[in-house]
Amino acid sequence: MLGAMQDWELKVTHLIDHAAREHGSREHLTHWADGSETRTDWAGIRRDALKMVQALQALGIEKGDRIATLAMNHSRHLVTWYGAVGAGGILHTINPRLFEDQLEYIANHAEDRVLLYDAAFQPIVDKMRKKWTTIEHYICFDSEAHTTAFEDWIAPYDGETEWADVGERDPCMLCYTSGTTGNPKGVLYEHRSTLLHALVSLQPAIFDADPRSVMLPVVPMFHAASWGLPWGGAAAGIKFVYSAVNDPAVLCDLMRRENVTHSAGVPTVWLAMFQHMDATGETLPDLKQAIIGGSAAPRFMIERLMKMGVNVAHAWGMTETSPIGTTGAKPANWDTLSFEEQISVKQMQGRPPFGVELRTVDLDDMSTPLPRDGKTAGALQVRGPWVIKRYFKAEEDALTSDGWFDTGDVGILHPDGTLQLTDRTKDVIKSGGEWISSVELENAAVGHPAVAEAAAIGMPHPKWDERPVLFVVRKQGQDLSGKELTDYLEGQVAKWWLPDAVEFVDDIPHTATGKISKKDLRARYPDYRLS
Ligand code: ADP
Repeated sequence: MLGAMQDWELKVTHLIDHAAREHGSREHLTHWADGSETRTDWAGIRRDALKMVQALQALGIEKGDRIATLAMNHSRHLVTWYGAVGAGGILHTINPRLFEDQLEYIANHAEDRVLLYDAAFQPIVDKMRKKWTTIEHYICFDSEAHTTAFEDWIAPYDGETEWADVGERDPCMLCYTSGTTGNPKGVLYEHRSTLLHALVSLQPAIFDADPRSVMLPVVPMFHAASWGLPWGGAAAGIKFVYSAVNDPAVLCDLMRRENVTHSAGVPTVWLAMFQHMDATGETLPDLKQAIIGGSAAPRFMIERLMKMGVNVAHAWGMTETSPIGTTGAKPANWDTLSFEEQISVKQMQGRPPFGVELRTVDLDDMSTPLPRDGKTAGALQVRGPWVIKRYFKAEEDALTSDGWFDTGDVGILHPDGTLQLTDRTKDVIKSGGEWISSVELENAAVGHPAVAEAAAIGMPHPKWDERPVLFVVRKQGQDLSGKELTDYLEGQVAKWWLPDAVEFVDDIPHTATGKISKKDLRARYPDYRLS
């Protein structure tokens, strides 16, 4: 026997229908790369997305075809999210910061048929065009030179059409992970998974969104589905303020002028904002919610934002988890905690919302579940309706034999379910059979006023198997010796964690998403040996 309720497939086009119907005049502002600004609203986004559906159909785009973007955050990019999926296609957001061989690989692997891109990325398009073998149509968002311009492309159509007929388990979006080892891997989201993720993302512990919210997302629309904001934002009917440039002066100005209440971005965004605010004396009186994720948010950052009256949602997730995994929800005893204790809670990666299940397993056998005791670190595994099952075009599922996805992260689960991330599985340092967290060493090192950046990696050691070596970039004009740094670290980390060597370097390599690339750092020292 089936239940007796209405058929209403969980499709993301319902989100834009709802936003246009219930919040149609809620405004969106875009600050373009050339400094000009345009405004539209949810009704306008839907109308243009429907016109885009007609334009895609005229190009012969069919259900399941991949439509790629290479673009910053702006309203035409948002139109494209809904236009691509509304035509039954699969939206593929490409990260323009990827290296050339990755750009070549992912567009060909995805078999993209159309590419919509910003004029700022014309040099990438010119360079890659010959190598991209499947892209038939190039459309530029903000220039008429060389190619079809977006507004001209959709202008001939009236938007009097329907969204393509797809089912809730059909795919809607394809995002590639930047691939710290091997080629990037594609994660294929479906309508149902995306819609469930969007609904959960609105809760107070995450985006805390309602129709009064004004959100300036700094997280790019090409990174991990922009944390689901373009979908969740429509469900809540929020106002979006987009900036196609990431200059902190522009962002601060927009935040003040448009009374921005919410923002989302990786920790480095806030570093740049703080520097600008310190230099100019600017403040952000309207800001209420800052979602920080992608890498660990340092304590001083959380403290400063909290002192500004901002609720910090420190979130952990990954492309494979759509991406929300956990966020820094306030626990039941929040009001009884001191300010320092509250910062400590927020510094951890938070707890899973309904829909995400976490467990940690033994790092040696990768299968024995570990207790939630707040001290045992293990491999972090996850399952739920918006967690990956199989990578795009892979032959096998990416799951353990009992159905969990191994995240590649190492963490500690506390008795109340709070996740404390300590490392990546491949970065954790194994010394004499015991594990040392490279992340904790790095966090302690960057606390030194003369350190700009630090990376700890395990180097081969004849007695201990591996021992930590700390690679450090000094702040400009600062003097610091290895001994001084090790003395500083003593007392902050266990004595046997102290690095065997400190190497001062001019730079530390980064991935396309701005994270430290330990793979590339290791590759610089193939013959490094400790004795
Ligand atoms: P990419 O490698 O392409 O940047 P993701 O954005 O999917 O891919 O990165 C996910 C990884 O980022 C996680 O597995 C984790 O290692 C790290 N990460 C994400 N959020 C946090 C956080 N709040 N604290 C520490 N690490 C984080």
